[in-house]
Amino acid sequence: MTLKLYENNSYIKEFTATVLSCNMADGGYEVVLDKTAFFAEGGGQAADKGEINGIAVLDVQEKGEDIVHTLEKSLSVGETVTGKIDWELRFSRMQNHCAEHVLSGVIHKMFGYNNVGFHMNDSLVTFDVDGPLSANDIEKVEDAANKAVFQNAKITVSYPTAQEFATIDCRSKIELTEGVRLITVEGFDTCACCAPHPMSAGEIGLIKIVNFCAFKGGTRIEMVAGSLALQDYSYLHGVAKAIMKQLSAKREEIAEQVKKLGDDLSAARSEIRGLTEKLAAASLEMQTVGDALVGFTGEADFNTLRNIANAKLDSALFIALFAETADGFNYLVTSKTGDTRSFAKALNESFSGKGGGRPDCVQGKITKTDKQNLIDIFK
Ligand SMILES: [Zn+2]
Repeated sequence: MTLKLYENNSYIKEFTATVLSCNMADGGYEVVLDKTAFFAEGGGQAADKGEINGIAVLDVQEKGEDIVHTLEKSLSVGETVTGKIDWELRFSRMQNHCAEHVLSGVIHKMFGYNNVGFHMNDSLVTFDVDGPLSANDIEKVEDAANKAVFQNAKITVSYPTAQEFATIDCRSKIELTEGVRLITVEGFDTCACCAPHPMSAGEIGLIKIVNFCAFKGGTRIEMVAGSLALQDYSYLHGVAKAIMKQLSAKREEIAEQVKKLGDDLSAARSEIRGLTEKLAAASLEMQTVGDALVGFTGEADFNTLRNIANAKLDSALFIALFAETADGFNYLVTSKTGDTRSFAKALNESFSGKGGGRPDCVQGKITKTDKQNLIDIFK
């Protein structure tokens, strides 16, 4: 049996313990100590990282009453060892896990929703609640949660008796029985949890909801807190500065300037489309071949070809246009009343082409050939 030191003191960064067992296993040596400050993977939080006697701890899992550390090298049974937690990582996880408790508590108090899913990696926390939230609701929730931080709300661990537990207002109570470990953020949340938490909400740092969406009838929320929130802010600040420099804009002008840039781009694209069409139409050489009006032009995309063809639809039963490309031709054949598909088939078969369409219009690409060979298809 391993005594879990973190359960009553989340701040133990270094500890000494006695090795109870060490067994070779897949991926390393499984070591059980009489006590440990390493948090085993569980409840949506990954296992602590760190080292024991200078040997890297690869994984930590709870098996029955034991905490099993997977190490790169073996240790001797009975030996006294020193364990060191990767504190920076652990503290960031404490900040983010606790922030999730505060947000869930606030949502439960404001809307009566329950937390129905929680996942935390080392850059983002995701959790789900079982009811819908609007952008306005999310803003209110974030403001209320950060009040816990600004007020430096006290955070306590307790193990109530069954009698005491019956009188406590606690989230997810129906699933719980006696003997639970409760984490209380005073005034904001009480919830059963096995993970290490800070002693006061001020240590959580800023709580920021970075995204939310409707999910299975409820809401999925993505958040960051503490060191992750600082990283996120630094990243976004860098992005904003780069855009401000590119646009020579003040920070309050960024959104407006980017919108203007988008509008200008759309207008320029539309102008280019018009000019390309004019250019293609100007260089168009057309001749009547049987029932078709066949034309050749320089480089032009299918939109341009379609617009030119549509303007000439009444001139012949079939309008066939070819635009030169680097390695062949783009083709488009249209008709008001005829079936153009046989032309696509003939062009594809004769000139290693690809394409097709509906009876009134086909389009595709073919390889390089003499223009006369293309004209012959329509004879
Ligand atoms: Zn928890």
